[in-house]
Amino acid sequence: RAKATGTNEICFYDMSMDRQARERNALAMEMRSGLERGEFELVYQQQNNVKSGEIIGFEALLRWNHPSRGRVPPSEFIPIAEKTGFILKLGAWVIEEACREAASWTRPLRLAVNVAPQQLAKDNLPGLVGEILERTGLPPQRLELEITESGIVADQQHALQIIRQLKALGVKIAMDDYGTGYSSLSTLQLFPFDKIKIDRAFIDEVVTSRQSAAIVHSTLILAASLDIPVLAEGVENAEQLDFLLDAGCEGVQGFYYGKPLARAEVDALVRGPRPVTATVPVG
Ligand code: C2E
Ligand code: MG
Ligand code: MG
Ligand code: MG
Repeated sequence: RAKATGTNEICFYDMSMDRQARERNALAMEMRSGLERGEFELVYQQQNNVKSGEIIGFEALLRWNHPSRGRVPPSEFIPIAEKTGFILKLGAWVIEEACREAASWTRPLRLAVNVAPQQLAKDNLPGLVGEILERTGLPPQRLELEITESGIVADQQHALQIIRQLKALGVKIAMDDYGTGYSSLSTLQLFPFDKIKIDRAFIDEVVTSRQSAAIVHSTLILAASLDIPVLAEGVENAEQLDFLLDAGCEGVQGFYYGKPLARAEVDALVRGPRPVTATVPVG
């Protein structure tokens, strides 16, 4: 049987372990050397204003270019990184790399970065983020940390304290995957979110399922009365976009506007002819 020896250590295994568990352990070890060898990469997916279609920002998404396995998707390695505690080191690399990239854009677009539950549980997150902002020169208001409900259920008071410290830096906080959690409504009651991202699961069926449409509608009404802007994830076609425009959703992200792009492609997109302005996009 697999036996964890501590949160910061890789699991040991014996011959009785199944193939899947051995595979997980192999990945866990390869991740450490992979980070040092530069195998990790961030790609960036645009976020758009629903009314104008304009780019309002990008979400950084992690990719692992493994030398023999090819591109390993985050759904395969993030859970392992979380289990072994490596997510702390990997997550810190993500924040720094993404902030450095966004600081180089000539347009003041927002940068969204995913933060894992364990990163939020650590007291040093506000300190780390503060240092990174200083080192990279990214204005704090341009950084938006995306957290999921699973990141705040364990110790709500502690999570709230960390979130308040992050907000005191000027950083924005978005609730990711809204609607999929255990009690999204009570989470909204307690936490001062700057944005709600409706999960792709609801947008997928928003024009085909009465239930999904009702959930999206009521989320938008709730968010409007709480004065929190909403962004819909996973918009893939014009029908979904029309629905969201009619329903009063502010932002969208999805393959309709673009798949995640490599850094060089983003650079080409944001270093275009538009003039540099001092304003930060809303929504
Ligand atoms: P997420 O934060 O909810 O990110 C959105 C995911 O939906 C991304 O998958 C994105 O590629 C995908 N997506 C966006 N638009 C569409 C669409 O129109 N159709 C479809 N089918 N998919 C769309 P990705 O990049 O595979 O990431 C999956 C998850 O892995 C993320 O979900 C996030 O929870 C996690 N993740 C990714 N990067 C990081 C990271 O740097 N740190 C942490 N802690 N988690 C990360
Ligand atoms: Mg996200
Ligand atoms: Mg999401
Ligand atoms: Mg998701």
